Amino acid sequence: MRSEPAVAVTGLVKRYGDTTAVDGLDLTAERGAVTAVLGPNGAGKTTTVETCEGFRTADGGDVRVLGLDPARDGAALRPRIGVMLQSGGVYPTVRAMEMLRHTARLHAHPLDPEELGERLGLHSCGRTPYRRLSGGQQQRLALALAVVGRPELVFLDEPTAGLDPQARHATWELIRALRAAGVAVVLTTHLMDEAEELADHVAVVDVGRVIAAGSPAALCGGHDDVLRFEGRPGLDLASLDAALPPGARAEESPAGHYCVTGAGGPALLAAVTAWCAAHDVLADRITTRRHSLEDVFLDLTGRKLRP
Ligand code: ATP
Repeated sequence: MRSEPAVAVTGLVKRYGDTTAVDGLDLTAERGAVTAVLGPNGAGKTTTVETCEGFRTADGGDVRVLGLDPARDGAALRPRIGVMLQSGGVYPTVRAMEMLRHTARLHAHPLDPEELGERLGLHSCGRTPYRRLSGGQQQRLALALAVVGRPELVFLDEPTAGLDPQARHATWELIRALRAAGVAVVLTTHLMDEAEELADHVAVVDVGRVIAAGSPAALCGGHDDVLRFEGRPGLDLASLDAALPPGARAEESPAGHYCVTGAGGPALLAAVTAWCAAHDVLADRITTRRHSLEDVFLDLTGRKLRP
């Protein structure tokens, strides 16, 4: 049964009184892959993930985690999944490395806690009581605790929020290593570059449903690339347009600032620079930009702050 997805959610519904937090949501997370769940605040991500973790019961739909029902089979599931909690779950006075070693001993085949502590920079604060750890150190300990039991599936809730760049990269490396070891990683994040960097599959959730899903490349594909440069005002745009790949076009706004949009960024760049060379134009401040996951996210969910 190794081929079944690690998480298979179909038509999930969850209500809190009059609020429908999740409204017919479908989500699949494969083994050996990172699945990023993105969405605006209040979209229903945490509710969905907590239902998969067995902390909440669904009002409708079907939730399968490693082939089991988390509401019913929690005892069988718990040793097989890792959950990174945003806060809590650790005694305030326990020391960081003690907690990690203790948690490792609770599992049959744990990772080496010393190596994991080293990897996440926990040794330098290993003797510090939990309540005295900085926010970032608590975060790194929470990640270590989630993965030390060698889970088949790990849920990471904003794992790098508030981390310094070094810790962020160490976290990303660890997530990549988990994926390479065949672990299914379900990641909720508001950091679009993190999702773009790590995710094999992205699900964008809004008002309780998945409104778009696919690989970052598939979600970002099909959009024009944008190339900007500065040059002397009044360049012959008809001539430039004629030199561009089919479908691409150039605009000048304001005077001396040019924007060229079209598919196939590298070909666009080559055409623009060749045209400039042929017309004795020294293009200044050339920048190119691909449609990012953040652009896709804002296109889908809107640019205005939600009420
Ligand atoms: P964020 O990005 O801010 O963490 P989210 O996508 O994780 O948001 P949820 O926490 O799942 O969103 O919340 C979805 C909706 O359900 C929100 O409208 C929230 O106010 C509501 N909600 C969540 N938990 C409860 C609760 N225990 N009781 C009542 N309403 C709740």
